[in-house]
Amino acid sequence: TEQKLIKAETLNVVGELAAGIAHEIRNPLTSLKGFIQLIQTDKNQRPEYFKIILNEVDRIEYIIKEFLLLAKNDTQQMKVQNISAMLWDTVALLQTQSLLKGVELKMKLQEGLPDIFCDLHQLKQVFINYIKNAIEATNAGGTVSVEAYVIEGTLKVKISDTGAGMDPETLAKIGSPFFTTKEEGTGLGLMVSHKIIKNHNGTFVVESEKGTGTVFCLSFPVN
Ligand code: ADP
Ligand code: MG
Repeated sequence: TEQKLIKAETLNVVGELAAGIAHEIRNPLTSLKGFIQLIQTDKNQRPEYFKIILNEVDRIEYIIKEFLLLAKNDTQQMKVQNISAMLWDTVALLQTQSLLKGVELKMKLQEGLPDIFCDLHQLKQVFINYIKNAIEATNAGGTVSVEAYVIEGTLKVKISDTGAGMDPETLAKIGSPFFTTKEEGTGLGLMVSHKIIKNHNGTFVVESEKGTGTVFCLSFPVN
């Protein structure tokens, strides 16, 4: 089992991001250019080309949307509040995706979870990212669990899956801008999440084993 404690404040991603975003957006742009040229010459295949073009534009839109989340930190709505309802909402939101895959998504919240100083909207984004990744890593018949509880004045939220797991090399790279092992991935989810966790004075620990599964445990100071 690989263990890693990542202090989110060591993340300095802006420089790497600038290079990464240029690269990431150039790919779909190159493809767009190619298919627009094809449309001019090959009239028969137009509907197909339009479909691909739309997909590429969607992808650029998606990358920019995730990217912009990073820039939004200044306008965050931090206040002392409870995250229980938001966690239920988040799990409900992802239940369909999970069901369709045949993955069981369950949640266990300790009763009377204490409030934390946070931006609910941003934290929701974080939990969506982690739970989505967990579902994506897990095959039919597997399980994704979300647990929240308090230990020593710290609120813990644990997201575990019985999915693919990660080898140490992969584990070392997660959260770097644009690092993805997925065909359709952006590799921005964890980077954005780490940044948000840092803004909440939070930390996280990840434990993963190839072929067995992954546990992300996030900690937030209780107000
Ligand atoms: P994306 O989901 O677009 O690939 P992320 O930043 O969310 O980008 O995740 C980066 C990579 O980290 C994933 O491509 C995957 O390789 C790895 N990863 C993240 N969460 C898990 C998990 N629960 N199980 C296995 N691998 C994971
Ligand atoms: Mg992701």
